Amino acid sequence: MIHTYEFEQFDYVQTDEQRTDTVKRHPVVVVGAGPIGLTTAIDLALKGIPTVVCDDNNQVSFGSRAVCYAKRPLEIWDRLGCGDRLIDKGVVWKLGKVFRENDLVFEFDLLPEDDHKVPAFINLQQYYLEEYLIDRCKDFPDFIEFRWKSKIISVKDETDYTALQIETPDGVYEIEAEWLVACDGANSTIRTMLDLPFNGQFFQDRFQITDVIMKAEFPPERWFWFDPPFHPGQSALLHMQPDDVWRIDFQLGWDTDPDVEMSEEVLRPRLKAMLGDDVEYELEWQSVYQFACRRMETFRCNRIFFAGDAAHQVSPFGARGANTGVQDIDNLGWKLKMVMDGKAPERLLDTYDEERVFAADDNLLNSTRATDFITPTSDVSKAFRDAVLDLAEEYDFARPMINSGRLSMPTPYSHSSLNTPDEDAFAGTMRPGTNCVDAPIGDGDWLLNALGERFVALTYEADPGLSNLTLDGVDVDILVVGKDVVDTKNVLRDRYDMQTGTTYLVRPDQYVAARWRVFDEAKIAAALNRALCR
Ligand SMILES: Cc1cc2nc3c(=O)[nH]c(=O)nc-3n(C[C@H](O)[C@H](O)[C@H](O)COP(=O)(O)OP(=O)(O)OC[C@H]3O[C@@H](n4cnc5c(N)ncnc54)[C@H](O)[C@@H]3O)c2cc1C
Repeated sequence: MIHTYEFEQFDYVQTDEQRTDTVKRHPVVVVGAGPIGLTTAIDLALKGIPTVVCDDNNQVSFGSRAVCYAKRPLEIWDRLGCGDRLIDKGVVWKLGKVFRENDLVFEFDLLPEDDHKVPAFINLQQYYLEEYLIDRCKDFPDFIEFRWKSKIISVKDETDYTALQIETPDGVYEIEAEWLVACDGANSTIRTMLDLPFNGQFFQDRFQITDVIMKAEFPPERWFWFDPPFHPGQSALLHMQPDDVWRIDFQLGWDTDPDVEMSEEVLRPRLKAMLGDDVEYELEWQSVYQFACRRMETFRCNRIFFAGDAAHQVSPFGARGANTGVQDIDNLGWKLKMVMDGKAPERLLDTYDEERVFAADDNLLNSTRATDFITPTSDVSKAFRDAVLDLAEEYDFARPMINSGRLSMPTPYSHSSLNTPDEDAFAGTMRPGTNCVDAPIGDGDWLLNALGERFVALTYEADPGLSNLTLDGVDVDILVVGKDVVDTKNVLRDRYDMQTGTTYLVRPDQYVAARWRVFDEAKIAAALNRALCR
């Protein structure tokens, strides 16, 4: 049988604007209450920016969608006040195993070191993610206004604002947005209505994504098979989710009929071959997908920003979709705040496009490579794939070449125009453009809790009498390691290659803007101006 759920139906309420036929201009309108739109609303609410969130639906999305959430988005959601709930409910994991037929050919550990607050990955059904984000939005009733069953049916760039038409059960009305964040998914109507290109590659393969409810003894690890005995000639993937739900992906090949594959006569024997004769299960959901890797040319169109699947779409191998979309918002939020507050020029917003297109290309490259390895399209790429799998059975060097999906990692903005290049020598990876890695501080606290939402100068045992700076209207908090931040285990020192005087300038999204071997206010001011395009 197929399991059924009753999801909360959010109330549609007719607005005063529609009732009184008044056109109102809002500071920020977010289109789409998926994971990325909801994250936008929370991030902006924390910054004191009110948003109107319009969604054409009135419930969380159901079906086989995102499962795996990576460390960086979890850190971002933690900053937004919902990390604990996601992690408590999710299945925490970090180990992956790759099999060829029944043989283990490769294992990986996504976080082989201790001393991080947030785990490498959790698995959680997308409907729980959206439910928890909506609950968090409800903590900001003065800043987040949901408009359910409100479909944007027209969008017009009016140079200093955007005009929108919204269709509701009561008809059509108009609103205006000073800034618009389009998070309306891969089939973005905003993108389509503006006639903006969305180009890339479609993969000629199909995957059956199945969620089953069963009691099973598999460990909380990612298991991937090439050519498994239970599904010969194809690949398969297994992931544990909360509530005894298991995600099983079956590669189907291109010459298959989705309707036939989805029939119980075909699916049930396939599941039985994998799980064994005696395993009892219920089907939660199944669907057949074809995947694409594509992106918009630019993620900023005057006063409209595209984020999440609306801006870029990847195959699910590597769990990069929602994970990278959340990082779009992490990048956009503080820049929009600075511009709206008059503390940075509007061209700072162009760097949203610069940095997130760079990240999207990295994700697209990884996603495309994984998909090519899993579903080789030419004789040459199939020969390469099979040679790697053959060699991996005997030789260590070949094992890391097995690509069953490189899992989502944050992309360093290594060439960003906002970075101040190093003038001193440093060891390690914390170079400008990199997101700050966590470290334990004080009594059970974490470095990332002390960073974010404002510029911070993190300085190692410099003059403890230093006081916070305000530079051309922008605050820079000074955190002195040893005074404000206690490096109990010296992990911070080691991860940041700290010496006496070493100073990092950290952006509000917890990315390194600059670093030096001395604390120098003039250097901080120059790097701050650069990071704000001033
Ligand atoms: C099988 C599968 C597995 C996946 N696994 C993972 C994974 O493990 N990890 C991961 O990070 N990602 C994964 N993804 C990708 C992930 O599901 C998406 O990246 C994510 O949902 C994108 O979120 P979004 O908010 O950008 O868009 P969506 O979730 O698509 O939300 C868009 C919202 O906009 C609304 N909308 C659309 N048009 C309008 C309009 N005109 N007016 C008003 N509202 C509108 C829609 O109703 C919807 O609520 C997977 C996807 C699939 C298909």
